[in-house]
Amino acid sequence: MSALIVAIDGPSGTGKSTVSKQLAKRLRVPVLDTGAMYRTVALKALRMEVDLDDAEAVARVLDDLDLELRLDSEGEVEVLLDGRAVGQKIRTPEVTDASSKVSTYGVVRERMVALQRQVAERNGAVVEGRDIGSVVFPGTPYKFYLDAVPKVRAERRHRELLAAGRGSSVDDVLAEILRRDERDQKREDSPLRVDDSYFRIDTSDLRPPEIVERMVGEIRRLQALASQPVEIPPEPTSDLTEDGGSEDGGDHADD
Ligand code: C5P
Repeated sequence: MSALIVAIDGPSGTGKSTVSKQLAKRLRVPVLDTGAMYRTVALKALRMEVDLDDAEAVARVLDDLDLELRLDSEGEVEVLLDGRAVGQKIRTPEVTDASSKVSTYGVVRERMVALQRQVAERNGAVVEGRDIGSVVFPGTPYKFYLDAVPKVRAERRHRELLAAGRGSSVDDVLAEILRRDERDQKREDSPLRVDDSYFRIDTSDLRPPEIVERMVGEIRRLQALASQPVEIPPEPTSDLTEDGGSEDGGDHADD
């Protein structure tokens, strides 16, 4: 039997993170936020003060990158940079913008995708990002694409930022979201796109529990049709990357 892998793609502000966490709990598999991985590469690049428009300089960041994934007590995969949990350090506006830039480079994506496959195939996972159903796990039948009208997405993201103590206007947030969408959709390597293999949900007027219910219904429907049953592991192990987790406690990446 193969591990249960659920792909959740879509632009930011569509409720992906909240929904992914709730769905993963429901299915008793870990949740992997791949955006946190690109944000961590961006954090490293900013610390090294490299020019993000210089492909060779960004490639050098990878040479120095010590990024590990570890399962926390909530069943969420947390990202460790140089042995320490990145926590909220990857949630600043600077890192947000830089992550959207570093993720356009094929070398960066290749490295992240290898880790994502390694971790998710081991325990099964709900994996959220932009290219999960199209590139990372194109073979999984469980693919969801979340979208919402831009204004709602901007308002959601604005509320998140305010809660994190970072004020800015909804209009500014909207402009930032649209800028990142454009980069995600126009990049050559693994652009954000949706096709008929996805189950699409417009989350503009839906609450997270309603979205999760729809997903569970669709997963059940697909399972009933499948020739091979999927395995839902009872308890995942905590060491995920090859050389295991680090000793550091630290904050947890959150959205
Ligand atoms: O999802 P989140 O907004 O945290 O992702 C940060 C950035 O990483 C996004 O703006 C996007 O450009 C990039 N990303 C990506 N592929 C993924 C996940 C995120 O290119 N699978």
